[in-house]
Amino acid sequence: MVNDIFGSMVFSDAVMKQRLPKETYNALHQTVLDGRRLDIGIAHVVANAMKDWAIEKGATHFTHWFQPMTGITAEKHDSFISPTGDGRVIMEFSGKELIQGESDASSFPSGGLRATFEARGYTAWDPTSYAFVRNDTLFIPTAFCSYGGQALDKKTPLLRSMEALNKQALRILRLFGNDDVTSVRTTVGAEQEYFLISQEMFEKRPDLVFTGRTLFGARPPKGQQLDDHYASSIKPTVLAFMKEVDEELWKLGVPAKTEHNEAAPSQHELAPIFSTTNIATDHNQLIMDIMQKVARKHGMVCLLHEKPFDFVNGSGKHNNWSMQTNTGVNLFEPGETPHENAQFLLFLCAVIQAVDDYQDMLRVCVASAGNDHRLGANEAPPAVISMFLGDELAEILDSIEQGRPYDAREKSTLKVGVHVLPRFPRDTTDRNRTSPFAFTGNKFEFRMPGSSASISGPNFVINTAVAESLRQFADRLEQAEDFNSELHQLIIDCIRRHKRILFSGNGYSEEWLEEAERRGLLNLKTTPDCLPYYIAPKNIKLFTEHKVFTESEIHSRYEIKMEGYCKVIRIEAHTMSQMVHRDILPAVSAYAKKLCDAAAAKEAVLGIGAENAFEKEQAAEISALTTTLYRRCGYLDEALKEMEKMESPIDQANFCRDSIVIIMDKLRETVDRLESLTDRADWPYPDYGTILFSVK
Ligand code: ADP
Ligand code: MG
Repeated sequence: MVNDIFGSMVFSDAVMKQRLPKETYNALHQTVLDGRRLDIGIAHVVANAMKDWAIEKGATHFTHWFQPMTGITAEKHDSFISPTGDGRVIMEFSGKELIQGESDASSFPSGGLRATFEARGYTAWDPTSYAFVRNDTLFIPTAFCSYGGQALDKKTPLLRSMEALNKQALRILRLFGNDDVTSVRTTVGAEQEYFLISQEMFEKRPDLVFTGRTLFGARPPKGQQLDDHYASSIKPTVLAFMKEVDEELWKLGVPAKTEHNEAAPSQHELAPIFSTTNIATDHNQLIMDIMQKVARKHGMVCLLHEKPFDFVNGSGKHNNWSMQTNTGVNLFEPGETPHENAQFLLFLCAVIQAVDDYQDMLRVCVASAGNDHRLGANEAPPAVISMFLGDELAEILDSIEQGRPYDAREKSTLKVGVHVLPRFPRDTTDRNRTSPFAFTGNKFEFRMPGSSASISGPNFVINTAVAESLRQFADRLEQAEDFNSELHQLIIDCIRRHKRILFSGNGYSEEWLEEAERRGLLNLKTTPDCLPYYIAPKNIKLFTEHKVFTESEIHSRYEIKMEGYCKVIRIEAHTMSQMVHRDILPAVSAYAKKLCDAAAAKEAVLGIGAENAFEKEQAAEISALTTTLYRRCGYLDEALKEMEKMESPIDQANFCRDSIVIIMDKLRETVDRLESLTDRADWPYPDYGTILFSVK
């Protein structure tokens, strides 16, 4: 059954092999390998075969599918029909329509690139990611650029970073004599966390509808204290949802593999089998889209926000990352021979150096208003970047650096390139869940990305940073007279310089934050704190030298992120204000009146001095809180007006962090207290307990 549907809607390599003339197939394959632009003649043949196949699958339309900097995907559907002149139509799709599309760039964020370049943008086919049919439409994965060639999307820098890493990794592999390898790609498996709640509850909460998270909500008596949700038995409604999601994904060739319950009530996770990074990124976008659509069909809403509810865990997206040669070798798989081990250690060092040198960029690429609620809370990695290698590997690096035997029974010290590494069991390397960047046996798991964000950002940063380490290593080793001793020394130097980034303890602890500060590691708590690092000269140098970005592209992304942060906070603050004025204040005022009426009625019937402490005291407390709430909401409204007067995005962002967010927290405190005092029937929204346990 799975075999029949898996990839059934994908114009895959197998389908192309079957449907394209041999020369066309080979030419396309070669173009993809060389990363060249497709010849229009070949494109025409491919387009025709693709159209015929798509029509058989029920498609009437096609769309260039792209990933603008909104973080979600965009599509514009055109039908295949073409008039014949005699009142009839035929279905047509040209090579030009396949390889290039036009799109109005002016409605997508461009961060200033639009001012200097034309409003028009174009989309260009990424033939390394297969086309597929979904909802009667042929989807063609594309990159999105301005006519000046500036990247306006999340795919272009990712593809460029993969190329940069490929180039530097091949230099290193040549030094180790791996002449059979012709390309190196990065592989990614992104584990996706999400919440499922009932649609009925969702629609009763303007905060969820407008912002994707609850802005108010008193602590429920039961959250995740009992640890009884993680990997527990899955409820029937959720199971039906997961089954349908899996099937939809399988049809599109997305290898969805694991589905389980997560820590918080109504929180779940989906993990696919890893694939090449750009494909994994496209797939992750499909996963998010399909989960949201399928949830609706089952009367539920899928929340992808990083922190939909306070008091329980938020959601992330663990980005598992590795490097693989076209000959099928995982470069982070420790080997059997001294030679393989030396190569493994060198690639490992490249990542250690990259994470240390570009800890600021790793923090930047996961920064968002949503993720600010998650990083640094005691459930997700701290905002400090560090790396976990596992005890064995850490011990090995330590003994290499110190020049002492690894094992007390051994007499000689470990010589890189001469000795075999002691075997270390993979299982023991995956157990530090508090580390933001953990080596898990043959790959790295970056745990900071937020659940709603594209994984393009984290991956182009990792790829480019590692490419830079490898470039430096290759420059040094290519000059070496004695390769093995230079390699040994390089590894020692690298460990010495970068071991401050290695940490095996509890990343959630206070002591670690103090220790990290002593080590000089960055602790960038909020989005406005870290975004300026995006345009730090060293980072501009990194991206421009590896041709991942031009300087103006970096500035545009910096601005989009900064504006995006302010926009989110502004929407949240306005939503709060509206909820307070239009729902909460009227509700609590009415409830206070009921209490007063009851107190008066008691006195009228039972006489002065009648026992009515509850009504009076509760009414007094509610009344006082109501005044506080009214005042605080006034401060928030004032602050929002003040923000509008500020011109620069960084001033606005800092103001959000220092004023607006603080007032919002205070406001919430008052509302949550009021919620716990008010008659359930009078409170305008379903409470946390009801929402979190709403799915049966
Ligand atoms: P766990 O996190 O529970 O240890 P796994 O190690 O099986 O689970 O895998 C988690 C994710 O990492 C999956 O999406 C898996 O496909 C992915 N993964 C496994 N190997 C690699 C690799 N070499 N490169 C990238 N991702 C990988
Ligand atoms: Mg994992």
